Amino acid sequence: MGKLWSSEFPAILTTLFVMVLLGIILNNWFLAAFIALSSFIGWIYFRMIKLEKWLARGAKTSEVYDDNGFMGYIISHLYKQKKTHIRRKKRTKEILRRLNQNISALPDATVLLNDSLEIEWANEPAHYLLGIHRRYDIGLRISSLIRHPAFLSYLISPDKKKRLEIESPVDGKITLQIKIVRFGRDQRLLTARNISDAKQLQESLKNFVANASHELKTPLTVIAGHLEMLENEKALSKTGKKSLKVAQKQSKRMQTLIQDLLLLSQVESYQLQTTEGNDLYIPEIMANVMSAVDRDCEDENITCTIPDNLFLLGIKNEIEGICINLIDNALKYSPEKTPIEVLWNINSEGECIFSVKDKGPGIAEEEIEHLTERYYRGQQDGTEQTLGSGLGLAIVQHAAIKHGGVLNIRSQLNKGSTFSVTFPSYRVIKNKPQKNNVVKLQNYSN
Ligand code: ADP
Repeated sequence: MGKLWSSEFPAILTTLFVMVLLGIILNNWFLAAFIALSSFIGWIYFRMIKLEKWLARGAKTSEVYDDNGFMGYIISHLYKQKKTHIRRKKRTKEILRRLNQNISALPDATVLLNDSLEIEWANEPAHYLLGIHRRYDIGLRISSLIRHPAFLSYLISPDKKKRLEIESPVDGKITLQIKIVRFGRDQRLLTARNISDAKQLQESLKNFVANASHELKTPLTVIAGHLEMLENEKALSKTGKKSLKVAQKQSKRMQTLIQDLLLLSQVESYQLQTTEGNDLYIPEIMANVMSAVDRDCEDENITCTIPDNLFLLGIKNEIEGICINLIDNALKYSPEKTPIEVLWNINSEGECIFSVKDKGPGIAEEEIEHLTERYYRGQQDGTEQTLGSGLGLAIVQHAAIKHGGVLNIRSQLNKGSTFSVTFPSYRVIKNKPQKNNVVKLQNYSN
């Protein structure tokens, strides 16, 4: 007989004994069986109800009770399972507590979001950097707490951008670098770092460079003037003339570098309002640009397409800076006489696009994202390194952003590159009477 049945055996025997005894006393075996069996079943029910009540109260280990028979076995199994469960729960709680403590000790704000963009968990720095309170804000949609438009669009499609810089919603003096990554089932992990110190340092550096460039401009202009005067000096020896040429070349280089640094600090200063700027007649601007790069639209390898009724609302030297840098790069990095296309046009959405296309060496894909970093200079395999400061495309990008536009770079190695700047439609001035005989540009079309 099994352990379970043997434990129940005394109860069964007692029932049988009571049944026989009642049968003899009452002389009615049916009634005796009825009374004995009903008592036995009632007793089982009583134990089951007791067990159910214990379970309903959460099967607390402190309230566990003894029961002989098979009920005792059930209670003992439940008690053991409950004990293991409590032990595991304690261990998991401890791990979570330590994890929580470690993440909270991080200086970066960390927030877990579910697939509905509701806050599931946040650490302590999330409170003073993002204004998310980890006790009261759990379950709230993060978009109801941080309403910055750039943040909202980054939140919806975090894969489009690596990171985002915004002002802290708690304190406008704090700059935050936000990074959002997807994990699990469309959940998101958001981290926010306080980069105010680095930003301030960057600002001081920018100001220093701008001030230093400004201070260097005047003495350099004087030096260049004196070098020019020396050019006409008859008494200069052959070696003297050679040295003069080198000095002139280097002073020209320094002047260009200083001009670039000054223009970069100008374009980085702030973003223009939509109505801010001057009416710029593009054919006139392009005449200045072509003379600055020492070329002509008549040159056999250059094709210019410039509508003769195009006016743009912008800052003159910044728009010229965009054009000069892109055309100069196309000329500088492509072999002599490589075809170059310069194009201004308006697309179907009314945006104005300036593009420069060359059939030069092209740029490796992994390099493209770095081109607009200041002082970045690409690899020029095989060929002699061309002169440059690595500031040209940084100027183009910042000037484009300042005018509400974007710089686009498409390039393929050994096939060529297309650099284009798209200006928003509000920058295009419509119905302005065309200027007559102001420019001497060839190859332009309507
Ligand atoms: P710089 O010309 O002074 O080096 P830029 O910022 O204008 O600085 O350009 C950065 C880098 O981009 C260049 O060093 C070059 O490697 C690459 N680049 C720019 N324009 C072109 C182009 N049209 N064709 C090939 N490479 C280019």
